[in-house]
Amino acid sequence: MTRRGAWLAKFLLRRVLPIGCLAVLAWFSHGPVWGWAIAALGWALLVLVHSWQSAALAAWLDSPDGRPFPQAGGAWGEVLGKLAHWLNEQTQHREDVETRLRSFRGAMDAVPDGLVIVDAGHRIQWSNRAAGAHLGVRLPRDDGVMIEHLVRTPGFAEYLASADAPSPFVLQVPAARTRVYTIRVVPLGDANKLVVSLDVTDARRVESMRSTFVANVSHELRTPLTVVSGFLEYFTDEAAVDAEQRKQFAHLMSDQTARMLSLVDDLLTLSRLEAEDAPASEEDVDMADLLKQLRAEGQSLSDGRHRLEVICQGPALHGNRKELHSAFGNLVSNAIRYTPAGGEIRIEWAVSDGCGVFSVCDSGVGVAAEHLPRLTERFYRVDRGRSRDTGGTGLGLAIVKHILLRHQAKLKIDSELGAGSTFRATFPDWRLRTPA
Ligand code: ADP
Repeated sequence: MTRRGAWLAKFLLRRVLPIGCLAVLAWFSHGPVWGWAIAALGWALLVLVHSWQSAALAAWLDSPDGRPFPQAGGAWGEVLGKLAHWLNEQTQHREDVETRLRSFRGAMDAVPDGLVIVDAGHRIQWSNRAAGAHLGVRLPRDDGVMIEHLVRTPGFAEYLASADAPSPFVLQVPAARTRVYTIRVVPLGDANKLVVSLDVTDARRVESMRSTFVANVSHELRTPLTVVSGFLEYFTDEAAVDAEQRKQFAHLMSDQTARMLSLVDDLLTLSRLEAEDAPASEEDVDMADLLKQLRAEGQSLSDGRHRLEVICQGPALHGNRKELHSAFGNLVSNAIRYTPAGGEIRIEWAVSDGCGVFSVCDSGVGVAAEHLPRLTERFYRVDRGRSRDTGGTGLGLAIVKHILLRHQAKLKIDSELGAGSTFRATFPDWRLRTPA
């Protein structure tokens, strides 16, 4: 039996049969009039109850929100119970789909790439949050707007129209000139397209920094190489140079070679520092001993032209001795090289506010405020000539910065043009070792 047949049989058995039996009983006991009357009354009651229940259900279906689901007993109760159960299942299913959709949207908004779905006419259908920053697409404001109306960069419309462009479109949004994006278009379904934008600003910056670095290194090596090759040409001409000149040229060539060697040394030091995140080994560095060594090296470099004062008031410092020596040595050598003869240089190790502070203070040429933020950049020099004349490579402070970073220390530079400078490296308290 089908489900419908079963329901009909149940209805006939429970509702129609009792009315029929009552009518037959009335017929036999009180006559045919009573029999017909009971049958008519029973049917009328049945129709009334069904009409009332169907009206209640129809009214609820018209505006289900907020209204209680109709309740009933008997056959209608069974039907309404099943309907309520089915509705509950549907609501649960819808809530599940909504939750999944919300988490999918959240995930799409967390994607750093801009994503925009456009239809065949390039009208915006959907976009994620990054697309707002990259392309200025914001929903619901731009729902149905043609994407070319928002991204007006010349060439973009043509790129979008071209079916399968091999390389991405490079976009520099006028509102954020400093940022660069690449755009790719991926076919989506039959007619839609997915526009993907990628922020490549940092990658471009790194690329340009790398090429600037290579250009700088080449330039730095080119000058001494040109000098050496020029002298070598003279050397080949026996008649043009006498023995005295030959000696002088050889001396100058050796100066240039030393300059190239120190540049290569600094470059190797920098690349080694950049290759590893932390020093290979650390120990408790006896600062009194290190300062003694720095004084000896400083005196040899100064050759009696400056007055050197060394003060050691702090405990041992936990770190890599070789690296710390290189960083502090660079600061001392700079102080000597940028301080005219007769000047004073103070090298100090002390504790301030619980932190270890190594400082080098000089009464030298000083640095104008506008140069200070860039001093630790590779090859940045305030006075190129003076740096070269004193054997500088332009990499000293870049090395200092790296080493301090690896020791969680901060570099602070105070300087006044013509009045001198103080370079201060502050180490965290946990690197200090109090004597046992
Ligand atoms: P360089 O080899 O040219 O000295 P550094 O990286 O050590 O390179 O320093 C970068 C620049 O900072 C120097 O060229 C110089 O202009 C400036 N500088 C560094 N130390 C001092 C200082 N003690 N006094 C004045 N200027 C300094």
